[in-house]
Amino acid sequence: MNEAPAANDPQTFEDLGLHDDVLKALADLGWETPTPVQRDSYSLIVDGNDVIVQARTGTGKTGAFGIPLVDKLMSIGGDEQALVLAPTRELALQSAREIAKLGARRGIETVAVYGGASMERQVSALKKGARVISGTPGRVLDHLKRGTIAASRLRVLVLDEADEMLSMGFAKELNAIIERLPSNRQTLLFSATVDRAIKRVAEKHMRDPVFLGLSGDHVGALGIEHFVYMLSGMGRVGNLISILEIENPESALIFCNTKAETEEVSAALKRAGFNAEWLNGDRPQREREQVLAQTRRNEVRFLVATDVAARGIDVSHLTHVINFHLPENVEQYVHRTGRTGRAGRTGTAISLVGPNELGVLYYLRLQYGILPVERTLPSEGEAKTRREADRIAMIDLAYPNPPNERALALARRLITHPDAERMLAGLLGAFFGPDTEDIDEVAAKQRRRGRRATTPPAPRDPESEEPLTPEAEAPPTATLYVNVGKSDDLKASELGRLLRERTGLKRREIGRIRVRNTHSLVDVPEERAKDVIDSMAGAVLRERELSVELAENEGAVPRS
Ligand code: AMP
Repeated sequence: MNEAPAANDPQTFEDLGLHDDVLKALADLGWETPTPVQRDSYSLIVDGNDVIVQARTGTGKTGAFGIPLVDKLMSIGGDEQALVLAPTRELALQSAREIAKLGARRGIETVAVYGGASMERQVSALKKGARVISGTPGRVLDHLKRGTIAASRLRVLVLDEADEMLSMGFAKELNAIIERLPSNRQTLLFSATVDRAIKRVAEKHMRDPVFLGLSGDHVGALGIEHFVYMLSGMGRVGNLISILEIENPESALIFCNTKAETEEVSAALKRAGFNAEWLNGDRPQREREQVLAQTRRNEVRFLVATDVAARGIDVSHLTHVINFHLPENVEQYVHRTGRTGRAGRTGTAISLVGPNELGVLYYLRLQYGILPVERTLPSEGEAKTRREADRIAMIDLAYPNPPNERALALARRLITHPDAERMLAGLLGAFFGPDTEDIDEVAAKQRRRGRRATTPPAPRDPESEEPLTPEAEAPPTATLYVNVGKSDDLKASELGRLLRERTGLKRREIGRIRVRNTHSLVDVPEERAKDVIDSMAGAVLRERELSVELAENEGAVPRS
């Protein structure tokens, strides 16, 4: 393999010398500058090289082959075609959609070809003259055998997520496909990890490939942040619970190294009051499907799974990947953490690292330049503060309605008494009883359960002035949908402020604010919902006119 020469630093899409129609398509997509992988691979690809690019989902790799395909490799009005192979149908579809958009103004059409969908529809799209075929290996091979894809027209082959294709057992199909293709084709291979198996594919099927190994920051998805918690090795499940308390992830895929562990961890999380489910190969198919369906409906906050069980399932809406144990090799780490931060979303990877796992951490840095930020478990002092807050929340919840005037007057008088502390402590002792640890557990559980699975709490936003863990309020709340989100650079605090200004809602009346990619969700007292919607009419935020309406439920919020 040859090392790629240093790129002469094109900074913009214009610098790459792209066709006007492609520049316009990029503007339509809202892509302003090329990502490193797009910038560095473009000229190698359009010069006709076979290229191996080490990059993974989230780096803009689809654009890295999609842009040169529609810009130069496919001639206008010609009949040559490109074949993009992907490990899963989600990815095949996603790439097809993206390439279709890139090629829209050049008249280059794309078809997605995958198992489980109607063969006829795919055949008719192929007949209509699609120039880029994006598919999964099994179905593509079917089409080649039937002659509904003409191998002789395929001038460019892209192997997307090649390592995943191999680890999912597609080696045979890949060989069978590649053997049918013309030998004068150009082959591009994209892979997050480049191990011996990938190198063998390259040796066998590529012509003098150029290797573009991107530096550590480019291999990991642009949007993924990596964190580790160093543990002493004892009480790992308890540590996990503390970490979930501190990080307060909206949702997570929690990886375990063994099947038994998935069940143990999920059971412990449930006992602690968290909403959790487990997935491993021993679980009957029907149950596995149920768990996945619940996960897709946002009804599962923590999905605890083995690597094998998590493979190929679309969990891209989960915000965090948590390694209960680090995996045995670094490639696996890259794959696991790649399950978050997909499709432009930002994601977070958190690993629990015991003394025996330091080696993996070392190789992670050495081979991929991934240098996770170290975080620490809460100290006893911090844990005490939290337990106290939980107890106060418990009292708060126990007396939702204002007491009578007499009791209020007595309370006012008591708290101004010089010995108020002693007397209040006595009352609290009577309220909680002697069994202190039990009470703490009940209080913590009450807090965790306060979050409905269908409305996970907002992720921590360091710039937010909203409380980090707003508690469920006693009055019924309604969830409102707002048509601005992360993609507009919206901060929860901004939305909170605007709501307070325009509607007169008090800070404590505004519940959780969840800023999602394209929209946000806000909990407000149900009785104020209509009035809030009316008062927000005509408001502008981040240069967008706001549209605020009742969200029916989280899975089916209206789209702007
Ligand atoms: P990928 O690595 O291909 O899965 O891309 C990750 C996400 O980044 C996708 O949602 C793309 O639409 C988006 N994306 C790719 N290239 C760019 C770019 N140059 N500017 C902004 N977003 C991009």
